Formats: sequence, C-alpha cells, structure tokens
Amino acid sequence: MRNPGITIIGAGFGGLCMAIKLKEAGYHDFVILEKADDIGGTWRDNTYPGCACDVPSPLYSFSFELNTEWSRLFAPQQEIWDYMRHCVRKYGLAPHIRFGTEVTALEYADDRALWHVTTAGGERFTTHAVVLGMGPLHIPSYPEIPGRERFTGPAFHSARWDHSCDLTGKRVAVIGTGASAAQFVPEIAPRVGRLYVFQRTAPWVQPRPDIRLDEIRKYLRLPGAARALRYAIYWFLEARGAGFAIHPRLMKTQERIAARHLARQVPDPELRAKLTPGYTIGCKRIVLSNDYYPALTRENVELITDGITEIRERSIVDATGREHEVDVIIYGTGFKVTDALSDFTLIGRNGLKIQDAWRDGMHAYLGITTAGFPNLFFLLGPNTGLGHTSVVFMIECQVRYIMDCLRLLSRTKAKALDVRPEVERRFTERLQRRLSRRVWNQGGCRSWYLDANGNNPTIWPGFTFEYWARTRRMRPEAFELIGAARA
Ligand code: NAP
Repeated sequence: MRNPGITIIGAGFGGLCMAIKLKEAGYHDFVILEKADDIGGTWRDNTYPGCACDVPSPLYSFSFELNTEWSRLFAPQQEIWDYMRHCVRKYGLAPHIRFGTEVTALEYADDRALWHVTTAGGERFTTHAVVLGMGPLHIPSYPEIPGRERFTGPAFHSARWDHSCDLTGKRVAVIGTGASAAQFVPEIAPRVGRLYVFQRTAPWVQPRPDIRLDEIRKYLRLPGAARALRYAIYWFLEARGAGFAIHPRLMKTQERIAARHLARQVPDPELRAKLTPGYTIGCKRIVLSNDYYPALTRENVELITDGITEIRERSIVDATGREHEVDVIIYGTGFKVTDALSDFTLIGRNGLKIQDAWRDGMHAYLGITTAGFPNLFFLLGPNTGLGHTSVVFMIECQVRYIMDCLRLLSRTKAKALDVRPEVERRFTERLQRRLSRRVWNQGGCRSWYLDANGNNPTIWPGFTFEYWARTRRMRPEAFELIGAARA
C-alpha cells in the first residue's frame, strides 16, 4: 500500500465521520482499513432478531446528515446500516476503504515521527497519523463457565448470530439479560419449543416509546422540522440524564418509572421478585423494552436465577444442581471493553507499550489522546461512553477536535503532537474523582463500565454539552509539538 497521510481503523460511525470531515476539509490522502468485508461496525456485526437502537434515531445519526426517512423513533439495525451506506455513497468514501484488512500492529518510529502499520495480510507501511475508530463494543465476551467447550449443539454469541440455525421448536438457553438479550428474547420466544433465560443480575427495564415516524414523514420533510426534532430529543435526553451527571439520588424518578413498568407487565409476584434489581437504576445500562417482560411470562419461557455451575454436552447445570437439557445456547454476554487492547501491539514513543501505559487502567485526555502515543487519536476512547444519550454526538465532537489537532500540525509544520503527561494526569484524576460519586461507581452493581481495579475508564460523567464545550477548541499548550518549525 502507498503510505497514506492518515490511517483510519474501522468503518463504523466513528471512522466514517472522520473520513467525511477530512474530505470536507480538502484532505484526501487517507485510508480506512476495515477488518470485515463491509462497513457498519456494530451495526454490521449485530444482526440478531429484534436488533434496534435504544437511542432515538434522529439523534443517533450525524448532525450534518439528517434523515427524514426513519420508520420509527428507535430504528431497526437494517435501517441504521442503510443510513451508513448512504453516507458512504453520498460522501464518496468507497475509494478510501480497504476491506478485509485487519491491523495487527502499530509502532511509532521516533526518528521519523511516523507510525508503522502492520496488517494481518503481512503488509507494512507508514503513516503520519492514526485514528482508531474500532468502537468499544466489537470483541464478543464469552463467560468462563466450566465445560463451555464441551457443548455439542450450536452455540453462538448475539453479535455473531448464526442465521443458519433454525430455532423453531428447539430447547434454547440464553445466557445474559443485558440490552442485547432483552431485544432478541421476545423475538425468539414464540418460535422456540422451550426457552431458558439465565439471569445473573436483573436489568432495570423502562417502556420504549417507539412511535412510528413514517406516519409523520411529510412533516419531517418540512424545512427545519428534522433539526427541531433532533434538538428536542437532545435536550429531553440531557434533562433526563441529570441523575447520571449530578447525583444518583436524582435517579429515583427513573427507578419509579421502571418499577411501575415491571408491576404492570409481570403480575406473578414470584417472577416479579426475580426481576426486581437490587441496585440503583443506571448503574448498568437501562433496558428500554415493551416486550421483554411479557416474553418472560410466556408458558414456554423459564427465567433461571440460580447461576450456572457447568455446561455439559447437551445441557446446562444450575447452582441448585438442576440439569436443563438444551439444543442451542445463545450467549448474550456482552463485549470485552476495558481490556479490548490487551492483546494488540500498540507501541508508542521510546518503545512504550499501551499495556504498560495503561497498566492501572485505560485513560486518555478527553478520551482522544494518550501521552506517549503522538498523532494517535481515539474515537469513543476511554471515558466517552454514555448512559443517557447518543454516542454519535460524542464522535462528532471528537472528530472536530482531531481536525483542530491536524490543523495545528499543518500551521506549525510540526511532525507530531503528544499530549503532555501532566495534562492528561490532571484530567484523568479529576474525572475519576467525579466518577467515584456517580451511579456507575456508587449504584451497587458490577458492569462492563468498570475495570478489574474498580475504576471507571469507560463513561463520561457529565452532560454531553459539557463535553462539547471542552472539545470545541483544542488548547495547543496541552500538547508537546514534535519537530515544530514554529512555536
Ligand atoms: P451486557 O450489557 O454486557 O450484558 C451481558 C449480560 O450477560 C449481563 O446480563 C451479564 O450479567 C451476563 N453475563 C455475563 N457473563 C455472565 C456469566 N458468566 N454468567 C451469567 N451471565 C453472564 O451486554 P449486551 O446486552 O450485549 O450489551 C452491551 C452494550 O451494548 C450495552 O450496554 C449497550 O451499550 C450496547 N447495546 C446497545 C443497544 C442499542 O440498542 N443501542 C442494544 C444492545 C446493546 P451481569 O449483569 O450479572 O454481569
């Protein structure tokens, strides 16, 4: 491959946004490397039945590419994927994308202030800057349950749905009850013979106001209407997110809404008790669903809360010793997030490995840059995940910030910029102090938001307009400019 000026890794929402903004700025010397054979990231990988966004689509989309054609407020996966393809076509990104190209190593060459990129196919080339747009939720996590490998029937993860496996009339086990399982359980329950749902921790579930937008499409096409709807949703979600951003006590209203939903949808007191969470709402991702609880009340569905001790050739054994014979196992067990880069070769200045730089947990200044890794930018990096609104908003803030960094490089003729370690340290310490008082840390649960040390390296603890304000202008003094001709 010719040495591109900028290498973007991943063709999901992040990578595509970066590419669009580079082109808009007149910069064409970049490549998007995508390990799969299509664009879409998480919206390509997750094809399970019922997959849809749990953030309203008018906000879960680019602000510069409003879509008036969403069929529903919470668009299904296929529509979101189509929207992303539309962006690729409209902004002419296809010639920049290299499919089937997995990056296996990134190594910084101090003497030339360049990155060496190595791919799984054995290619090696250099690039000035790297944008990591892999997203935080792309490596499936499988539970470490004794005997998992012994199971002889079909077994797959929700993000690797096996559509060739016909579930009709089968005895199916679902392990996990997070946002993904809550979407596919109601879809498969009427089809399967028997469904065993293994729940370790009950999720809080709120109603999903999934109104149809196709019926008001003609109004949304009026000038300004789609933008007005986007703003209205944005501010509604920010206001509702006050409990996340200010104090867990403010989550009480949210909890009441969820408790009422449970009481209304699950009449059986025994089942309701099993489904009542024992932690503050918001500590884990809040599930939005109108059909998850009704699915659990079906005759052919059993909720098992006793924990799994063993998986055998054709069965699952729970902690009471009961053996459940099953034909298929579906893992709705989430993703590797806080240790996503643990096996990746990422070597920065003076041979610094990312595993050493992040020995005590992931961190990055504004979630975008980390000291010792010049000209390496994260999209949806550490501490930029959200519990209350759209991460596409965060991506746009990050891309604007990275564009500012690139402009600074070109203005100063510097070869690279590296965030000053003390700036990043102060930022991280303040962030962690704030997080220590927020619901994800204080709510009495364990989730993928927290790492093995109990730190929270995943979530942005405030309102998103604060993040917008903090990333609106980059502060050149926060960075060391390497090889600058001018100060
Ligand atoms: P998840 O929220 O991490 O849920 C994983 C589930 O598996 C949890 O119920 C967990 O139980 C369970 N589990 C994990 N290991 C287990 C074990 N050893 N034994 C028994 N149960 C085990 O994963 P997810 O549902 O795939 O969702 C991940 C994230 O993707 C969400 O938080 C959300 O951000 C995103 N998502 C978004 C949408 C959307 O509409 N935008 C849809 C789906 C997912 P514990 O709770 O006890 O750990």
